[in-house]
Amino acid sequence: MIEKILVANRGEIALRVIRAAREMGIQSVAVHSTADSDAMHVRMADESVCIGPAPSPQSYLSIPAIIAACEITGAQAIHPGYGFLSENASFVQIIEDHGLTFIGPTAEHIRIMGDKITAKDTMKALGVPCVPGSDGGVPDLETALKIGEEIGYPVIIKATAGGGGKGMKVARNASEMKSAFQTARAEGKSNFGNDEVYVEKYLQTPRHIEIQVFGDGKGTAVHLGERDCSLQRRHQKVFEEAPGPSISAEERARIGKICADAVAKINYIGAGTIEFLYEDGEFYFIEMNTRLQVEHPVTEAIFGVDLVREQIRVAEGLPMSFTQDDLQINGAAIEVRINAERLPNFAPCPGRITQYHAPGGLGVRMDSALYDGYSIPPYYDSLIGKLIVHGRDRREALARLHRALGELIVDGVDTTVPLFNALLQEDDILEGNYNIHWLERWLAANM
Ligand code: ADP
Repeated sequence: MIEKILVANRGEIALRVIRAAREMGIQSVAVHSTADSDAMHVRMADESVCIGPAPSPQSYLSIPAIIAACEITGAQAIHPGYGFLSENASFVQIIEDHGLTFIGPTAEHIRIMGDKITAKDTMKALGVPCVPGSDGGVPDLETALKIGEEIGYPVIIKATAGGGGKGMKVARNASEMKSAFQTARAEGKSNFGNDEVYVEKYLQTPRHIEIQVFGDGKGTAVHLGERDCSLQRRHQKVFEEAPGPSISAEERARIGKICADAVAKINYIGAGTIEFLYEDGEFYFIEMNTRLQVEHPVTEAIFGVDLVREQIRVAEGLPMSFTQDDLQINGAAIEVRINAERLPNFAPCPGRITQYHAPGGLGVRMDSALYDGYSIPPYYDSLIGKLIVHGRDRREALARLHRALGELIVDGVDTTVPLFNALLQEDDILEGNYNIHWLERWLAANM
């Protein structure tokens, strides 16, 4: 059994893991950079170890420093959170080679899903519907142009190693292909050290619907419905909800079963998300994330489960604490990502928090590592909090979001809160009537 977990992350997700561990009677170890000595995750953990200077390559991404911190503290397991090393297959391999436990999937599954071409091939073979496109990598511009003719424009050229919205370029016609192809390649090379790209049909007005899956590593897996994450800026999610306002119970059961069966077949262990674009009643796989997602709390809210606790259980070799039949949806939940950013350009806005007050009350969850007097360092992600609301139905969740945003106080830095207040005035948002382009268009017209 795991007695001590090292959390290889910072911010709200580090707190999330420390909290689950504490409820299970498990000790926690925080690691931190010199810039984070005063951070909440350091204060909240049972122990802490400084693992290096502020830049993340020398601290939160330093595998030797993290393994050494495990050895010093006697932690037997590592939870990676999201971002940083959470989808780094060699990190997982090194952890296992040191006789430690990684709380997450196997190195092999991370490797397969981390390469988008291999992921698509694997999913296709497992019966998951995919976006039509090239069969694997596209070696040169001539081939890309041929595929463009075959599947029809517009198309999107994607770096197989891409992530975080980087390495994707749309070509609306053959004449745009050259620059799109070259840019996607160059972005893949410079951001991920891999210039392999593939081509797929660019869907015009899809929604981004993702299915939460969970496996025990022994051939049993379940799905926990979908999240609609269509409200995006530069391919980055800002507002997520569950269940998806456009998904019927029948569609959920159908695509959910396809996903659960697929991950069961490969003996997947732990939490995973299978992302789709959804258009005209059809689902098209785009990628799988082999980790806990930022937006996991909306799923936890409607199913009443603790996904981190579950991750720790299966890492210990225990069975999941629920079956598919146990998982019934209760109400609706919404998450908004509160970033320290200045509108209208979303420029990062680090600085000192002069006053912080978290909203509360029925159905409100605030996951944040802020406190009065805390200084947000300039080195990391600008996410400073996630406000999650849960109601008996979507309408109640929206009213609760409005109420909770009104209670929230974050003084000293600019945040994305005004964006959410404005969105809650829009009929399309209130009616759940939006696709992946809605927010960009709205921002162009209103900000
Ligand atoms: P990343 O790994 O960088 O997050 P994804 O493959 O998950 O990239 O895609 C991110 C977003 O880009 C999607 O949510 C969607 O908005 C858009 N996108 C990706 N593929 C397509 C496509 N074939 N057609 C239209 N939009 C797409």
